[in-house]
This record gives sequence, C-alpha cells and structure tokens, in this order.
Amino acid sequence: MLFLGIDFGTSGARGIVINDNEEIVTQVSFSFSRQDTNYLDEKWKNTLYLLLEKISIDIRKKIEVISINGTSSTVLLCNSEGIPIEKPILYNESRDITVLDNFKTIIPKYHLVNSSTSSLAKLLWWYQTKKMQVDSYFLHQADWLGFLLHGKLGISDYHNTLKLGYDVENLCYPDWLKALPIYSILPQVLPPGTPINTVNDYTIRRFNFSKHCQVCTGTTDSIAAFLASGVKHPGEAVTSLGSTLVLKLLSKTRVEDISSGIYSHRLGDLWLTGGASNTGGAVLKHFFTDEELQELSEKIKINQQTNLNYYPLLTPGERFPINNPKLSPKIEPIPDNKVEFLQGLLENIAKIEALGYKKLEALGATPVTQIYTAGGGAKNKNWAKIRQHYLQISVKISKQTEAAYGTALLAKRSKNN
Ligand code: ADP
Repeated sequence: MLFLGIDFGTSGARGIVINDNEEIVTQVSFSFSRQDTNYLDEKWKNTLYLLLEKISIDIRKKIEVISINGTSSTVLLCNSEGIPIEKPILYNESRDITVLDNFKTIIPKYHLVNSSTSSLAKLLWWYQTKKMQVDSYFLHQADWLGFLLHGKLGISDYHNTLKLGYDVENLCYPDWLKALPIYSILPQVLPPGTPINTVNDYTIRRFNFSKHCQVCTGTTDSIAAFLASGVKHPGEAVTSLGSTLVLKLLSKTRVEDISSGIYSHRLGDLWLTGGASNTGGAVLKHFFTDEELQELSEKIKINQQTNLNYYPLLTPGERFPINNPKLSPKIEPIPDNKVEFLQGLLENIAKIEALGYKKLEALGATPVTQIYTAGGGAKNKNWAKIRQHYLQISVKISKQTEAAYGTALLAKRSKNN
C-alpha cells in the first residue's frame, strides 16, 4: 500500500509517497511565482494537478490514501460549488482588527483568534464587507485542495481550525462562536487524518487513481513538519533552526500563554506546545554566507566559551520566550575574529532556545527528554554541541524534516482511524 502526502506552501508544492514501512517511494515538487497574487486559487489548482501528474501512473494506481497540508490561516470563501468568490486571504495578510472589536463583547479577550491574521478575523472581514452569503463555504487552503480531489465541501480538521476558534479541548465550537453571525457557515471539524471520501470521478479519470483511494483530513504546514520527525512520546521536542527559532514540545498537558505566543495544538491524546522566537538563522544570514557559516563553524573551539552576551535580533521586538515588542537587538561588541563572533551568536541563540524550553516546562508542559533538530541550522555539528551544553539534553538531527513526509505519515495513520 502507498500513501501520498502533499505540502502546499506559498511558492510551491511538494508531494511524497511512502510505503507501509514509511520509506519514501517517490517525491515530486513544483514551484510557482509568489510575487503575483492574482488568480491564486487557479494557480494552486493547476499546481496540485501538475504535481499529481509528476507521480508515475504505476505509483498513482497503488496510492490508498492522500492527505494535504496547507499554510495555517490561509483561507478561501467559496460558493456552493466550491468556486472561490473572493481572492484567497494568505496566512500573513492582516485584516482590520476592528472587525474583531465589533464583537468584543462576544469573543474572549485572551483568545488566540484576537489577531489580525487569524482565520476568524478573515472570515469576519468577509462578513462585514458583505461578501459572505448564507450558502457560502469557508475553507482553509488544505480543505479546499482536498475538496478538489474528493468533492465534499464544508470539512476541516482541528489543526487548521484552531485559529478559527474551534475548541480543541472539548472538540466542539464554543458557545461564544455560535453567537457570531458567521456560525452557520463554519466547517465540520474532524481529527487530522480522518478519511473523508474516496477520490471523485474527475480525479480517477484524469490521474488513474484507484476508485478505492481515500482522501483524509489534512493539517497545517508547521505541524506536518513536526510530524515528519516521527516524534511520538511526551517530552520529545523538535527545534526548527530556520530563519526563525521555533520550538515544539510534545506534552501530556496543554499550556497556553497567548501574550508570549505560546499555545498548544491537539495531537491525539497529547498536546503539541510551542513558541516562536524572532531570533534565528535570519540573523546569521545577515552577517555570514552559508559557506562562511559552514567553514567558520568548523573552526569553533567548543570548550572555550566566548562570554559574549547577545540577544541576536535584526529588528526590535521579541515574542517568545520573552514577550516584549520593543526588546532591542543586542549584538555588541563585535570581535575582529569572525569565528569568535559566529560562536557568540550561536551560543546566545542556544541560550534563548534553552530559556524557551524552560518557559514551556515552567508553564506545566512535560519536561524535555530529547530534542530533534530541523531547518537550515540542523546540519551544523558544532552548533549542536554548543546547544547540547546549554540545553543539557541530547540533541539529534531529525531523519525526515519535509512537511510532505509528515503529511504522508498522517495519510498512513488514517488507515487506523
Ligand atoms: P526557512 O525555511 O525558515 O527560511 P531554512 O530551514 O531553509 O529556513 O534555513 C535557512 C537558515 O539556515 C538561514 O537563515 C541560514 O542562516 C541558516 N543556515 C544555513 N547554513 C547554516 C549553517 N551551516 N549553520 C547554521 N545556520 C545555517
């Protein structure tokens, strides 16, 4: 049996097919220009179809389950045929926060939805601008792409709907959401990786999928990347050393501190807790090329700490583990020796990572036992040693980091749902 996971980003898509042993059978990708935001939904649809065509027919015929992940809070408003009636609103596009203020007596003050980029803010904006009709459908990017393959509208998962206000603890829409005028068009919410329907006739005819091939509910891009690590046990964590520093810890308990960007996604009976700092690889990239990062890192004398005290940021403001929108970057003094300077930056990012996990634990999350690493900084072995020193926990590289792989695992697990 084969399982297909599709990762949809802002500039392209990737598909990974795995077998019963969770080994990669094939992977395909397709990119599109992110500059031009016109006809986005058409572009996504074409990309999805072109991606499927890149998988050989022999493999396509053996795929049992398909799952798709999309960018969190990228949303569409569609008519009853699933055709978008408005341009999709992207994850990072803000909508006037006053749409939320108009309902402030209803929406809880410290809820995650109180952000100008939340799915709820976007839906309320469509309501206020009178774009939403009683027979409209509100979908996330992953829901809509899945719909193109299975044909059922109005279904989402509890990862994509967290920022819409879905109550992931009690698995229902909370009463306050029911009191909003958009309630009637909210999607039915299922656990990620739940079978929805077999592929529709068009998909079978065009791509030669088996008529038994199922499409299951998807997830968001960052959770899919976490799932790729294969982490299953409470206390296991994944640090992403990409442009920013992102921490995710699997916990028995749910922890929330919205003001410092800490919230939990549900993962079966466990919770995926975490936070994202503004420090990370973007700061390193500002001072060094990737080649320099590699060469200079190899020259670092691990056992001699620099004693440089930095808070590496490119612009003022931090969200996690310190919540201070005005926090100043601290990258001084800059030593003449480039190796020492890089070591100072790596040490201080590691200190922020250690503080982040301490903060999650202090809020009640399961203590960290093992940290896996993903992202561009994961390959830096000396950085791993530095991090291990500050974290006092063993640090490993994730074997798989592709969100498409994590989504393929979700498709595979749907066989047990
Ligand atoms: P994102 O997807 O968040 O943009 P990536 O996961 O692709 O980021 O990682 C890119 C980052 O990795 C860059 O900001 C770069 O500074 C950092 N990076 C690349 N090579 C190294 C290295 N050898 N050591 C540490 N960081 C590195």
